[in-house]
Amino acid sequence: MNPATGEQVGAVSVDSAGDVAAAVARIRGNQPAWEALGFKGRRYWLNQLRDWLLDNSDLIADTLKAESGKVRAEATIETPYLADQINFYGAKAEKFIGEQKIRPSSLLSASRKLRLQYRPHPVVGLISPWNFPLVLSMGDAIPALMAGAAVIMKPSEVTPLGLNEIVDAWRNEIGGPDVITVVNGGAETATALIDHSDYVGFTGSDVTGKKVMARAAETLTPVSLELGGKDPMVVLEGANLERAANAGAWGSMLNSGQMCISVERVYVEDGIYDEFVNRLTAKVDALEQGVDGDTAACDVGAMTMLSQLEKVEKQVDDAVAAGARVLTGGKRGKGPGQWFEPTVLVDCRPEMSVMEDETFGPVVTVTRVADEEEAIRLANDSRYGLCASVFGPRGRAERVARRIEAGAVNVNDIIFNMLAPSLPMGGWKESGIGYRNGEYGIRKYCRSEAIVSARTLLPSEILWYPYTEQRHKAVSAVTRFIGGRGRRRFR
Ligand code: NAD
Repeated sequence: MNPATGEQVGAVSVDSAGDVAAAVARIRGNQPAWEALGFKGRRYWLNQLRDWLLDNSDLIADTLKAESGKVRAEATIETPYLADQINFYGAKAEKFIGEQKIRPSSLLSASRKLRLQYRPHPVVGLISPWNFPLVLSMGDAIPALMAGAAVIMKPSEVTPLGLNEIVDAWRNEIGGPDVITVVNGGAETATALIDHSDYVGFTGSDVTGKKVMARAAETLTPVSLELGGKDPMVVLEGANLERAANAGAWGSMLNSGQMCISVERVYVEDGIYDEFVNRLTAKVDALEQGVDGDTAACDVGAMTMLSQLEKVEKQVDDAVAAGARVLTGGKRGKGPGQWFEPTVLVDCRPEMSVMEDETFGPVVTVTRVADEEEAIRLANDSRYGLCASVFGPRGRAERVARRIEAGAVNVNDIIFNMLAPSLPMGGWKESGIGYRNGEYGIRKYCRSEAIVSARTLLPSEILWYPYTEQRHKAVSAVTRFIGGRGRRRFR
């Protein structure tokens, strides 16, 4: 269903647990040949995918726009993101997970040749949300594929079409090896995927993330969890207020606020509070909300899920009933379609749901603080810790940034960490476990295997049978020497 118009745009059939088992068995059978292609061979196929994505980005953007209710400007950013991921991991995978020689740490280990190889979990299962349907599915599949894994993806049941188009193209237009597949459905399909995969990458809410981890624990399947956030933004005296207000407006309303790293709480030092609030409110008030065509005429799109719209509405209504003030927006927009007006709230208290729970909608709260200590305390007063931003004179802002409890902090900037594939991105606290991007973003899909080779010339057999008195004395002398040397060296 197109959330901006209420019209049906397509249909997919739901895959049963049996369908998931069969799909996993199929790609599992093809995975060894994919791994055997090596980095170069796998990069060749992913480059074909990149070229197809770039050649078909308008087609894909149309699908994303229709299934999610995004505005055009936001529907067009997903395919370049995927292309960037392919370029990054295509170039870096071997450096990150190629075989490594390990330096011996002592005389004892110097008697062996030590190496470490990384082998992929054969089948990686990915479960994704609806807010960035390709970035959070295919985007995470790219490093897994570069690592040599086969990948099964379950997109959100609300936005399955774009990903299905890409997997169809991989199969039918690109002719790539049958190591990428997609299954459709809700919780039941996802549960079967967890049961049959060797590694599960989940992106979604903290509530579902905990269920995923519990299910995966039954088969001791490793997981990474990219969950929700309640991102704070701190504005210090001396900040460029125009830049901070622009960042606050974009960072909170981007994708209708349906973004894990959306700015939801702004803390502003007393002396600049009024001016910041006026500027931010004027900017949010001026945003154009609606359905655009082929030109990027609108700023803010629809709410993708009705239940999410209802949650946002309840948070705002409850806050207002408890004394919060709406400076702009504050209510549903007119249908057809699912809309919530871009909203600025002030006079919120920490115990309100709009301050404690993830909103995931076009709502930003602004709170006055006495100084940076109060800003840091309130910013950290959350069960989430995904991302944050700090605006102010660089030295002071960076000092504050280092004290914020979050997986990433942008200084005089917003959301940018997500666009730097070389930087790991992951949540602290209930925002998740593990990381995407960077070195860890591919290594997580691998198991490490230590390869230890004896050097024949050295007397390595001294430790083995038979235990004679002479050998025992020799071993004791060697171990005393190693231990004693350590004691002298590392005081
Ligand atoms: P959700 O948790 O409701 O659903 C996510 C996925 O889990 C969907 O594919 C859904 O079908 C599946 N699912 C549902 N029940 C399941 C179960 N019992 N077991 C396994 N899978 C199940 O989340 P959503 O509403 O689709 O997405 C919004 C959430 O995603 C927000 O909390 C947002 O912050 C989070 N998110 C996080 C990141 C990140 O990188 N940290 C990025 C985007 C979105």
